[in-house]
Amino acid sequence: MSNGDLLDATRALAQRACEVEADLIVHLAEIDERKLYLQSAFPSMFAFCVGELGFSEDAAYSRILVARAARRLPAVIDPLRSRRVHLTGLRLLVPHLTLENSQEAVARATGKSKREVEELVAHLAPQPPVPPAVRKLPAPATAPEPPSVPPSAVASALPPRPVVRPLAENSYRIQFTASDLFRNKLRRAQDLLRHRVPDGDLAAIFERALDVLIERVEKERFASGCKPSTDVAAKQSESRYVPAAIRRKVYERDGGRCTFVDASGRRCWETGFLELDHTDGFARTHTHDADSMRLLCGDHTQHAAELLYG
Ligand SMILES: [Zn+2]
Repeated sequence: MSNGDLLDATRALAQRACEVEADLIVHLAEIDERKLYLQSAFPSMFAFCVGELGFSEDAAYSRILVARAARRLPAVIDPLRSRRVHLTGLRLLVPHLTLENSQEAVARATGKSKREVEELVAHLAPQPPVPPAVRKLPAPATAPEPPSVPPSAVASALPPRPVVRPLAENSYRIQFTASDLFRNKLRRAQDLLRHRVPDGDLAAIFERALDVLIERVEKERFASGCKPSTDVAAKQSESRYVPAAIRRKVYERDGGRCTFVDASGRRCWETGFLELDHTDGFARTHTHDADSMRLLCGDHTQHAAELLYG
């Protein structure tokens, strides 16, 4: 199979999978309505989906939620069938949909990632801000405990995973676990900033800290924000070290984002793992020239090198 055929076939399969998913949801909605799971000896639609249809608990939950919403709101099935909104996006959205807002909300979710749909939900159903908190977690047990606690209870005692969750427009809940060293640095920063942030507000302090960090790393890596230099002429060099003025020019010209563009004109969205790439290969030219350099993400740097050197 050629690369083009493989991509075409996969797109067609993805389309079919969405059509099957939409039909499945419509059927589930009808089974649920007729309570057919009862005559199959399952106590609930959820049990039927897991026990009879072999869905995972997650998939069963999502499909039942969307199926129930679809009976109420006909606007939700078509976007699923036509690949405009994925099942996870619909699952997040449907608890907040009404006959009045469903058409518009589903249209706004078109083509959005799960994270973007979470933002949309935060806009539809804003949550109040959470108070800042620094809390000591219980120390993990060092000696093995007698097996009196079921494993699920142990798992729930573990530190929670990091959270960045939209609460409302322009407001997020951010939560993570850190060391005592971190806590000490935080206190020190709060004390040092007392005259500017008198209440020691965590969000204000972290925002200032991140501003400083971003500025510093951008400067280190891409000489961003340094005094503008007129000396950006191409330079012959044996060293791979790219002069600061050239790094800065490429970084700012390329907008801090991977510049790889596919045949249809779509640009890679990666803004992390960025590297300066010599379009004609530094090993061949031994020249640093902003006009023949570009920002690429790590994977596209590798991809470009494979195309160039084989
Ligand atoms: Zn890329």
